[in-house]
Amino acid sequence: MRYALHTIDNELEYLPYKVNKEDVSNYKQLANKGIYQCPDCKANLIVKYGEERGMYFSHLHSEACMESKQTDRALTRYNKQNQRETKKHRAIMDIVYDELNAQSKINRHLSVEFGFRAKPNFKVIPDILLTIDQKEIALSFITNVNPSKDESLAKEIIKRHHYFIEQNLFPIWFIERKELAIEKEKNSIVLWEAEHTIASYTSEDREWENLLKELRPNPNFFKLYNYPLSPRLNKLETGSLYYLYDENDKIIVNIKRFLKDHNNRPYRAFLLHEGYSLSLADALSVTPENKLLLCDPHQELSNRKTFLDNHLELQKLEEDRNKNNKQSTPTVLISTSKNKKISSSKKTKMSNDLLYELLRVRIKINSHEKNLIQDYLEATGMEPIEVWKIVELYKCKSYKELENRLIGKKVID
Ligand SMILES: [Zn+2]
Repeated sequence: MRYALHTIDNELEYLPYKVNKEDVSNYKQLANKGIYQCPDCKANLIVKYGEERGMYFSHLHSEACMESKQTDRALTRYNKQNQRETKKHRAIMDIVYDELNAQSKINRHLSVEFGFRAKPNFKVIPDILLTIDQKEIALSFITNVNPSKDESLAKEIIKRHHYFIEQNLFPIWFIERKELAIEKEKNSIVLWEAEHTIASYTSEDREWENLLKELRPNPNFFKLYNYPLSPRLNKLETGSLYYLYDENDKIIVNIKRFLKDHNNRPYRAFLLHEGYSLSLADALSVTPENKLLLCDPHQELSNRKTFLDNHLELQKLEEDRNKNNKQSTPTVLISTSKNKKISSSKKTKMSNDLLYELLRVRIKINSHEKNLIQDYLEATGMEPIEVWKIVELYKCKSYKELENRLIGKKVID
């Protein structure tokens, strides 16, 4: 894998790895016409083919320039670093490179390069280096992970992760795993040791973290989910992982978000949603604000709503159970959406902040509407939970609907 500048349009070109004989001779002829230049020393390049190396560019008489010798050494180190990766690794990299390269042609804030070319001096080389404005993002892909066997790999990946951070890169990992260890009945995901460290923290993870903070989780919170909380969870730290898999010859990214918990074996984390998938191209699209998207924002909003609804329902069920059935034997709590009736229990306490968060997610109130609700609560002395019940009971979809219901209620009272 070597690059050459195409002199006509000054574009970087690289040669496909596997080609048929006819293609090789086509490329050779083009090279002999002098159209390929070394991007470093600008010397004309020839095309060679080797069984193992595939098709590649070479300097005449193999007199490589300093820069290209350095790139060669980086490539050798990089290949060694990635020895364990499967053939799919290369295919994934090509897709990612092409996708980002296409975007960089229409977005001047963006540039993309293979890691061994962008950072030939690095001890550890990222697969792809994406630069958005001044921010350098190290994209790395790990294929064929088997968490129970790949212990030493985990340590290696953690080291690479820390190294990238030391070098002021922002690392993002994509993992292809044989299978995920999801314990549905415990609402948990058991992570591979490396995943605990290399999980990303994006703006969506921050949204989830804020939501959790509003819910003020204590051990009882996790009991609702049968989640085996570690005794040491003392800060709320969310994270996300991006899993790669094939579907109809396409590479798909499955996104999982969780609350980090156990920081030793088993690396269990509290799952925030079951995960959802999007195409690699969608995951890698750069937003107009020049941020790597890595999510489906609508899906995230809907997932937070589902999480909240489900959580409040579990809480209600638990309260009803405690109230009605004090002598009962412990029952297993099941998350269900059947019981939609509004509980008449007045014991439920809800903070104003939680109400605003719920309303923000459910009916997308803005800050002005939030102030109106705050005024309303102060003026009427109404409990936040009562407002939420009205939203649920009448399935309000907008602030206007809620306002009408609240006014209506005032008249009846
Ligand atoms: Zn050169």
